[in-house]
Amino acid sequence: HTQEPWKPFNRSRVYMADLESTLHYSLRVELAAHTVIKGGALTSLREYVSVLAKYFPGRPVVTNLLKSLNAWLQNQTGDEISYEALREILDNTAQSPNTALPEGERWVACQGSQPHFRRYPCGMWSLFHVLTVQAKDAGGTDPKEVLSAMRSYVHSFFGCRACAEHFEVMAEESLVEVDTLSSAVLWLWSRHNRVNNRLAGALSEDPNFPKVQWPSPEMCPGCHSVKDNGEHRWSQPQVLPFLMSYFSSSSILADHLE
Ligand code: FAD
Repeated sequence: HTQEPWKPFNRSRVYMADLESTLHYSLRVELAAHTVIKGGALTSLREYVSVLAKYFPGRPVVTNLLKSLNAWLQNQTGDEISYEALREILDNTAQSPNTALPEGERWVACQGSQPHFRRYPCGMWSLFHVLTVQAKDAGGTDPKEVLSAMRSYVHSFFGCRACAEHFEVMAEESLVEVDTLSSAVLWLWSRHNRVNNRLAGALSEDPNFPKVQWPSPEMCPGCHSVKDNGEHRWSQPQVLPFLMSYFSSSSILADHLE
């Protein structure tokens, strides 16, 4: 990685450039490690691309690409696909006008102070928070649809294997409790905070982006309250609308797109 010039950004906003960079990395880099995709991994890929096609709140060219990729995947009737064939759908957009997945990584709110910090894992969290919120906004029918897709994608493909194992343990433990689209949004938020808690002070932490219980009292004063015994407590009726607004498609900034 060559160090790119730092892009100033608003620390309390989501950027489409991060979400597109995440799609690029996931579909062109992470999946490329699998020459052939079959069995459970193929099912995971289908679920993942299906939720992306349904809920990714992107630019029309990008959502068109995700829809053609989804249609192509659903049409593959064999038990396996080659990554090469998938890659052709991603890149060979000449026959399908107005479809494209921009190439390369342009991290903005997921920039790290060093190239080995943040970036794709930060983008992955952001993407799935956005997707759970979009599914609720769109009135999806299956409350677990997005989280199950995330769980299987992470299990089959996420490059950080220790992360995948940790995430699977959390999903195994409590994903069954998710029974509404709102509880899906809150489940991902609270599990992400558990991960933040575990990783606070670890070597993987970017010193410029310390792991905190999120959102901070500065970002959402009403989200925080205090129990009678003085302990901190989240005020969930405040957290949900905060998340719905923070990750809503209308709040995503389009700066730094190519
Ligand atoms: P991230 O934790 O990546 O968060 C990205 C952004 O999301 C933050 O900047 C903030 O704006 C927002 N945010 C923060 N907390 C929340 C929240 N609770 N709800 C909603 N939004 C929030 N690394 C390990 O070392 N060990 C692991 O076991 C591990 N497991 C992981 C599992 C998954 C599924 C993923 C996607 C990543 C995992 N990682 C793990 C990576 C780690 O969680 C961070 O992504 C990475 O360290 C980069 O941190 P960051 O500072 O960019 O913030």
